[in-house]
Amino acid sequence: MPTLLSIARDIRSCTECPLHRSRKNAVPGEGNAGAEILIIGEGPGESEDQTGRPFVGDAGKFLDELLASIKIKREDVFITNIVKCRPLNNRDPLDEEVRICTTAYLYDQIRLIKPKLIITLGRHSMHQFFPQIRSISAVHGKAYKKAGQVYMLMYHPAAALYQVNLKTTIKEDFKKIIEILKQI
Ligand code: URA
Repeated sequence: MPTLLSIARDIRSCTECPLHRSRKNAVPGEGNAGAEILIIGEGPGESEDQTGRPFVGDAGKFLDELLASIKIKREDVFITNIVKCRPLNNRDPLDEEVRICTTAYLYDQIRLIKPKLIITLGRHSMHQFFPQIRSISAVHGKAYKKAGQVYMLMYHPAAALYQVNLKTTIKEDFKKIIEILKQI
C-alpha cells in the first residue's frame, strides 16, 4: 500500500498522461492526513501550477473564506483535485486523463485518508462519483451516501466568482457541513 507521501512523490514525477508535458508543477494535494473532510476540486489552475499547491488562486481564497465561515481551518481538511496537472487554458480534463489520474492516485488518497465526508466542488468532481446526476443545480448542498461513503456536492467556488448570486448559495451550502458531519 502506498502512503500519502509516496503518492505525492509519484504524482510529481508522473508521465502517465499528456498533461505532464505542459505542467510547471504537479499538484498532489495537501492537508491533514487524518482529515474528517476531503475536498476534491477539478484540476489545478495557473496559480496552482505555478506553486504546486491546490486552491491558492482566487477560487482558493474564496474556499478559505468559506471554510473560515464555518470555523474550519484549512490545515484540518485535505484538499486535492480529480486531475493533478493543469489542463492548458483551464480546459476541461479529458475522460482518459481523469481515468488515468483517479485510478493511479485519487482512489488511493481516499483509501488512506478515510474521510467521514467527501466534498465535491463542481460538476467534474461530482460526476466522478455520481455520473448519473445531470445537473448540480438540483443536488448542491445535499448529502448522499454511496458504498458507505458520505458525499456533499457543492458548486465550484470559481463559479461563484463569475455568478455573484451563487456566492450566497454556496455560503449557505457550506453552513450545512457541520450538521452533516455530526450526523455521520
Ligand atoms: N480549481 C480547482 O478545481 N482546483 C484547484 O486546485 C484550483 C482551482
